[in-house]
Amino acid sequence: MHYLSTRGHPERKRFCEILLEGLAPDGGLYLPERYPRIDAATLARWRGLAYHDLAYEILALYIDDIPAEDLRALCARTYTEAVFGTPEIVPLKALEPGLYLQALSNGPTLAFKDMAMQLLGQLFEYELERRGEELNILGATSGDTGSAAEHAMRGKKGVRVFMTSPHGRMSPFQQAQMFSLQDENIHNLAIEGVFDDCQDIVKAVSNDLEFKRRWRIGTVNSINWARLVAQVVYYFAGYFQATRHNDERVSFTVPSGNFGNICAGHVARMMGLPIDRLVAATNENDVLDEFFRTGVYRVRGSADTFETSSPSMDISKASNFERFVFDLVDRDAARVRALFGDALVTEGRFALDEALMRRAREEFGFASGRSTHADRLATIRATWDAHRRMVDTHTADGLKVAREQLQPGVPMIVLETALPIKFAATIVEALGREPERPPKFAGIELLPKRVTVLPAEAGKVKDYIAAHCG
Ligand SMILES: *Cc1c(COP(=O)(O)O)cnc(C)c1O
Repeated sequence: MHYLSTRGHPERKRFCEILLEGLAPDGGLYLPERYPRIDAATLARWRGLAYHDLAYEILALYIDDIPAEDLRALCARTYTEAVFGTPEIVPLKALEPGLYLQALSNGPTLAFKDMAMQLLGQLFEYELERRGEELNILGATSGDTGSAAEHAMRGKKGVRVFMTSPHGRMSPFQQAQMFSLQDENIHNLAIEGVFDDCQDIVKAVSNDLEFKRRWRIGTVNSINWARLVAQVVYYFAGYFQATRHNDERVSFTVPSGNFGNICAGHVARMMGLPIDRLVAATNENDVLDEFFRTGVYRVRGSADTFETSSPSMDISKASNFERFVFDLVDRDAARVRALFGDALVTEGRFALDEALMRRAREEFGFASGRSTHADRLATIRATWDAHRRMVDTHTADGLKVAREQLQPGVPMIVLETALPIKFAATIVEALGREPERPPKFAGIELLPKRVTVLPAEAGKVKDYIAAHCG
C-alpha cells in the first residue's frame, strides 16, 4: 500500500515513512492510494473476532511494511481489557430501541483519543527502535490530546514528550491526569498564557527547521494517518454489536471538531462497511454543520471561535476535512489545491456547488447538526432522568443531533467520546450533582505534580528542550 498527498505531490510513500511525519511536503494530507474493499465473506469472518484481532485485520490492509506477526503483537499489546476496562474494548449500550451509545472513553485518559494514541505509542516505539532513532514530540493541548499522548508515550523507549498547556486553565482533573505522571520521558510545560500562545510556540519551534532537525522534533496531531486508521476499527466493532447480519445498515453520529473521528467513519464506509449515514455533530463552533447545510466551508477567526462547555470541539477549522473533500471531488488534487491551498488562504472560505453537496449527502451519506450550551444541559438532564446515565458534554452534543436524524429501521450509534468526570463543572450545572468517578481516579488531584512553568516565549521552550534531550 502506498500513500499520496491530497494536493498532488508526485511522491508515493509507505506507511512507516508517513508514521512519524505530519503534513505532506506540499502541505496536503496523506491518504492511501485506494481504500481496500471488504467482501461479504471477509465481513462475515470479522464479525466473530476479538477487538485486537479485528484491529490487526484492518490495519494489515494499510500497513505492509511491518511484518504480520509484529503488527499482530502490537495490536494485542494495545487493546487489552486491562487498559480499556472491558473485554469488548468499545462496548455498545442501548439507550432506547434503535439508539445506542458506543463507549470509546474507557481508556487511560477517559477520552476517545486513547483509542488511536495508545496504538501510536506502540508503533512509535517499534519503528524508532527499528531505525535506531529518537523522537521528541512537541505539542500544545487544552486537555484531551495532551493527556492521551502522554499516557500513550510514557515509558516508551526512544520517545520524549514536551507538552505545553495554558498555565492554570485546564480543569483540576485534566491537570492531574497530565501532571501526576512521574515518567522521566514526559515533560509538562505550563505556559503563562492561553492555548493560542501554546500553539504559537509549537509553530515557532517547528518553523525553526535547524532546531527541529537537530533535536528531532515531531508531533502527534490529529492529521496523523496512523491515528485515523486506528479509529476505523471501532466503526466495524460498533456495527457488529448493533446488528446480527451483514445485510443490515446502521448510522453513526459523531461529536466532531477536527473531523478526525468522523473521517475514520468515512474510510470505514468506503471500505464497504454498511453505514447508512454519518452525522457530524458540532457545538457552537459550527464550521462543519455550516458546510454540510450550505456548501460553504468558512474558517473562523479567533474572535468568532468560541470557548464552549464541549471544549475539545472548539475549533476554527477542521484539520482533517481536506481528506473528505479529496474523495468528494473524485481525488482531483488540482482542485483540492485550488480550494485549500488558494481560496482558503486568500479568502478564508470556499463554496462547493449543489451537485457536489448532493453527492456528499446521497453518495457519501453525510448529514450534520449543531448543539448549544443550553442543548447540552437539556440533553444531559434528559438522559439522566430517563436512563440514569450521565453523558459528557461532547457526547451530549452527539445525542442531541442524533435524535434529529433518526430514521425508522436504521439503528443510530452515537459515539461516546469522553466520560463526564472530565467536564465536571457542566455536569454539576446540569444535574446539581458531581459526576461519577471511576475508582482508579480517586483523589488524583492530590498526587504530586511534575510540571515546569515557563513564560510564553518560544526561546524559553527551546532552551528547556535542549537542556532535557540527551
Ligand atoms: C477530540 C475530541 C472530539 C473531536 O474529535 P475530532 O476528531 O477532532 O472531530 C470530540 N470529543 C472529545 C471528547 C474529544 O476529545
